[in-house]
Amino acid sequence: MAAKPKAKRKPAPQGKAKSKGKPPATAAARRIRRFFTTVTVFSIIIVLFFWLVPTMAERAMNRIEGSGLWRVSEEAQALHNEVIVADLHADTLLWRRNPSERSARGHVDLQRLRDGNVALQVFGSVTKTPRGQNYESNSADTDNITPLSVAQLQPIRTWDSLLQRSLYHAEKLADAAQEEPGGFLLIRTNADLDLLLAQRARGQQVVGALLGVEGLHNLEGRIDNLDRLFDAGYRMASLTHFFDNDLAGSMHGVDKGGLTPMGRQAVRRMEQSGMLVDVAHLSHMALADLIEMAERPLISSHGGVRATCAENRNLSDPEIRGIAATGGLIGIGFWDGAVCAPTPAATARAMRHVRDLVGIEHVALGSDFDGAVTTGFDASGMAAMTQALLDQGFSEDEVRAAMGGNVIRLFSRTLPRD
Ligand SMILES: [Zn+2]
Repeated sequence: MAAKPKAKRKPAPQGKAKSKGKPPATAAARRIRRFFTTVTVFSIIIVLFFWLVPTMAERAMNRIEGSGLWRVSEEAQALHNEVIVADLHADTLLWRRNPSERSARGHVDLQRLRDGNVALQVFGSVTKTPRGQNYESNSADTDNITPLSVAQLQPIRTWDSLLQRSLYHAEKLADAAQEEPGGFLLIRTNADLDLLLAQRARGQQVVGALLGVEGLHNLEGRIDNLDRLFDAGYRMASLTHFFDNDLAGSMHGVDKGGLTPMGRQAVRRMEQSGMLVDVAHLSHMALADLIEMAERPLISSHGGVRATCAENRNLSDPEIRGIAATGGLIGIGFWDGAVCAPTPAATARAMRHVRDLVGIEHVALGSDFDGAVTTGFDASGMAAMTQALLDQGFSEDEVRAAMGGNVIRLFSRTLPRD
C-alpha cells in the first residue's frame, strides 16, 4: 500500500526525456556492454574447451577396470618391496599433466610409481596417430595428435612438427625431474643407472626415467635428426607406430612392408650411438628384416604373444626366438589387445610363455600405461604382477628377473658409458 504514492513520483520519465537528447551514448553503451558480454561468454567457452577437452579425452582413453580385485599376499608384497621393478613403456608424456604430481587420471605419475615400488619407467613419445586407429589397417593421412597438441595449448612449434613434439616431451620430463629433487632421475648413461641403483639401495624413493620414441616418423625424413633425439635424451626408439612410414612397415599399416634403406640406416646409427631398437608395432616383414640385420639386442617394449592372445599385433614363437637370439627382451603389456584381458593373470601367462620358450632372461614388463588403453590397475598396483607371477609358478629369482632385473641388466650393457 505504501508503495503507491512512491510510484506516483516517477522521476524516470523526466530523466528519460533529458537523456533523449543524446541517444547515441546509450546505444554505444549498450553496444559496448553487448561486446563485453560476448567476449566473456566466448572466453568461458574457450577456457572450458582447452581445460575440459584434453582432460575428458584422457579420462575416456586411459582407464582402469577391476582394480581392487587383485589380492596380494603378505609374502608377495614382501618380495615386491625388495624387487627392482622396471617397466618398458608408458605414454604419460602425451597428456597434459605434470608427471611429478599425483593425478586422478591415467595410470602413471611419480607418486603412483613410488606407491608401486617402480624403480625405472620408460616414457614413450607418441607424435602421430591416425584417426579411427585400429590394429588392422591405417594410412598416414590423418593425425589425432595435432588437434590434441592445440587443445592442450602446447608450444606452437609442436603443432605442425613431429620432431618438436618429441623434443617437447623430453623437456616436459626434464622439467618434472628438476622440479622435484629426489623424484625422477633421467637415465641417459650407465653412470645415471648406477646412481639410480645406489640411491635406491640407500632407501631413497627416486625413480629412473628413460625416454623412448614411438615411431621414427618424427625424424621428418632426415636421418640426422636421430642426433637431436639422442641429445635430448632418447635412448630407445621403435621404427613405426600405427602406420607405414619412410623407415618400415607397421603391423597396423596398409602395405605392412619390410625395412626401407632409411630404416636400415637408422638401425645402424642407433646401434652405434647406444640407442636400443624397439620392435613394437613393426610389421612382421620388417621385424624379420630387423632380426636378420641386428647386431645389438632388440626390445619389444610393449605387446603380447600369439600363443596366449592371437591378435594380429602379437609376436609369433619364431619372432620371440629371433628377438631372444639378439640377447633382447620381450615386454608384455597389461591391456586386452596384448593379452586378451586386462588382468595381472593374463599378463603373467604371456610372460610364462616367453620364459618357457626362450628363457627367463628375456622376460620383461611393458605395461603401455597411459597409451589410450584400459588396464587392470595403475602403476601404484604393480605388486599385483609379483603376485600373478608367483601364481604362475615363477621362483623368487625368476620374479626378480621378470619384474625388472632383466631390463636393468640390458640397459647397463647398452647405455652409453657417460
Ligand atoms: Zn604402442
